[in-house]
Amino acid sequence: MSLAEQLDTVTAASAGTVDRHATTQTFESTNPATGAVVGVFPVHDTDAVTETVERARAAATQWAELGFDGRKERLAAYRGYLARRMNELSELVHRENGKPHGDAILEITLAIDHLAWAAGHAGRTLGRRRVRAGMLAANHAAYLEYQPLGVVGVIGPWNYPVFTPMGSIAYALAAGNAVVFKPSEHTPAIGAWLAAAWRAAVPDAADAFQVVTGFGETGAALCRAGVGKLAFTGSAPTGRKVMATCAETLTPVLMELGGKDAMIVDDDADVVAAADAAVWGAMSNAGQTCIGIERVYATSKVYDRFVAEVTEQVRKLRPGSDDEATYGPMTMASQGGVVRGHIEGAATAGGRVVRGDADPSLFPNENYLAPTVLLDVPEDNVAIREETFGPTLSITKVRDAEEALELTNTSAHGLGGSVFTKSKARGLDLARRMRSGMTSVNSVLTFASVPALPFGGVGDSGFGRIHGEDGLKEFTRAKAITRQRYALPVNLMSFGRPASATDAVARVMGMLHGRHR
Ligand code: NDP
Repeated sequence: MSLAEQLDTVTAASAGTVDRHATTQTFESTNPATGAVVGVFPVHDTDAVTETVERARAAATQWAELGFDGRKERLAAYRGYLARRMNELSELVHRENGKPHGDAILEITLAIDHLAWAAGHAGRTLGRRRVRAGMLAANHAAYLEYQPLGVVGVIGPWNYPVFTPMGSIAYALAAGNAVVFKPSEHTPAIGAWLAAAWRAAVPDAADAFQVVTGFGETGAALCRAGVGKLAFTGSAPTGRKVMATCAETLTPVLMELGGKDAMIVDDDADVVAAADAAVWGAMSNAGQTCIGIERVYATSKVYDRFVAEVTEQVRKLRPGSDDEATYGPMTMASQGGVVRGHIEGAATAGGRVVRGDADPSLFPNENYLAPTVLLDVPEDNVAIREETFGPTLSITKVRDAEEALELTNTSAHGLGGSVFTKSKARGLDLARRMRSGMTSVNSVLTFASVPALPFGGVGDSGFGRIHGEDGLKEFTRAKAITRQRYALPVNLMSFGRPASATDAVARVMGMLHGRHR
């Protein structure tokens, strides 16, 4: 079957949940490289979203009853399906998001790895266990388990349209929840493909993972639909709106928001490796990476060598939609304006602007931006303070790594970051003191590829965690149970207790804890 036929099937399959709602409005998703229509999708209104969530609620009960092993088996079928159709999905990602095939394959690979980890670790992380009851309840057994929330709503962005939402979807499903996913209006075909793949791979729990499509109003309807939790990934301004909407129904939220990640290049760093990592971390996916490197602070000892190396490497980069292109277009045309604005802002403030050698007049269209290095831009400039989300990298000279850390930590964002130094102790120390949820030493973005590590930020980068054991627990509620094993002669939790009982307790507590000062 050709890709176009596949997409028609996918569109129809995703609309399987939709047609029944008689949603009349539709919207097109387009290829950012050519403007060609990739697919036509329904705009789900409030009724349609509510109905989808109701269906998911029914499915959630059955899905939870399958237990960890039953779900593991089905999640394995899903990841097998994705792995066998990786090329087909990467072609769709290339067409709808614009990124090169190799990047799409990498993204899908990461998503599959997380699916495997989440399914494989859910039982041991969340399953029922006995915990010590402690002195005051010594005659009781105490149990802890992490129960699913029911239906989890997932709202995702367009920049990593497979990997990013899967960080919530895989972990929420493995924890025993059903999921309703609202992909970005810029990548609905990919979201619909993922849900259609689920229906095909896991037919006996088809409604455990569904997709609704549309714009912000569809996302807002999902927030109001009575889901057990809303996992949001996107920008901080939209995150605030989502939180406000979820507050109406006291729906808990997970916020995975933007970043302004920094790299610190210390005196003893491998400058060539640091430059290579910074350029890739900043420019891959056209810089549209939440954990992309946007700022570098290089010590005065390495600054000149680092700048020379980065600018040399950047010269060779070329955006395009062909197989040799190093990165693709801006997926969302309006983002190009933001990136140009930051570059102009940096230049106006006295920063030096160095572009790659590729001739912009040969770029396929205006959605393709030249790789751009911004040197010594003032710290209060928009290009340093706000998320640029484009193929730019600022490099600033600092006295030493301590000054670099200080400047890194002044950002309102705190998602990821990177440190380059040959000293293990220094690297780990700087990483620990960096105000971010994640830091890689002597590499970039590596933490995202370690399924056991939690992913998430601080400050304007959000709160809550996907991935790892914390990511599994994020989609559960802790349930505490005690069971009395035998009755004590004196029950402290009874109006019938003698006064001497609490006197005795006070004496014991005095002996046990009173000596601590
Ligand atoms: P947006 O914040 O614009 O949108 C994110 C999602 O929210 C989209 O699906 C969008 O739908 C939806 N949405 C928009 N308005 C509302 C609303 N009022 N109520 C509910 N949902 C709404 O982000 P982008 O899609 O532009 O993604 C880029 C941003 O995501 C960057 O800031 C990036 O750093 C961040 N990001 C963070 C990650 C992390 O893990 N921390 C990972 C990846 C990206 P629609 O598209 O239809 O408007």
